[in-house]
Amino acid sequence: MALQLRVYVPPHPLVKHWLGVARDVNTPSALFRSAITELGRWLTYEAIRDWLPVVETTVQTPLGECSATFVNPQAPIVVIPILRAGLGLLEGAQTVLPLASIYHLGMIRNEETLEASCYLNKLPPQFDPNVRVLICDPMLATGGTIMQAMAELTQRGVDPTAVRIISVVAAKPALQKLGTAYPSLAIYTATIDEIVNDVGYIVPGLGDAGDRIFGT
Ligand code: URA
Repeated sequence: MALQLRVYVPPHPLVKHWLGVARDVNTPSALFRSAITELGRWLTYEAIRDWLPVVETTVQTPLGECSATFVNPQAPIVVIPILRAGLGLLEGAQTVLPLASIYHLGMIRNEETLEASCYLNKLPPQFDPNVRVLICDPMLATGGTIMQAMAELTQRGVDPTAVRIISVVAAKPALQKLGTAYPSLAIYTATIDEIVNDVGYIVPGLGDAGDRIFGT
């Protein structure tokens, strides 16, 4: 059976709440940052539910022996925030995945052509073949940035089936590009918006996520 991009919008009241806070134009920067952090936490929680490798063992309680399941500390887990705005989601993702390695990828869009280019690349030359990768990118708009990020990963040996993306707002153009190029991907997003305007912003979206996180 042909693979098809999976896009999950967790129907969780905390996800809806923090999305509402983030969308509100009157939310001050400090609270906006908290909202993105919280969304990073809950979207990561959802994204790793059936994905995080575990080991089965037994432990001794004060009253006897019982089976126990632990996160496998040997399994390589990587989180990649797309700078700048991905740093907000990373903050929350790290509370759930404290042992993950973090590799930063800085991408900037040309305001006229909307083409993305990479200004910071801290990725290793090659990833462990068993790596699982979580990408943090709050705004999947035209898809230029995330497609370039995926290309950087696959060039370094990452299997797209081992990649999950968390975002706050995902728009149709980005989802279409990802679905065509990487149908095995899974995306966890707080919402899907239909429109990307002429200057590459998602409508209604939440504005410039990086500016609102960092108060610029
Ligand atoms: N990046 C943002 O920060 N906001 C958008 O709406 C689109 C891209």
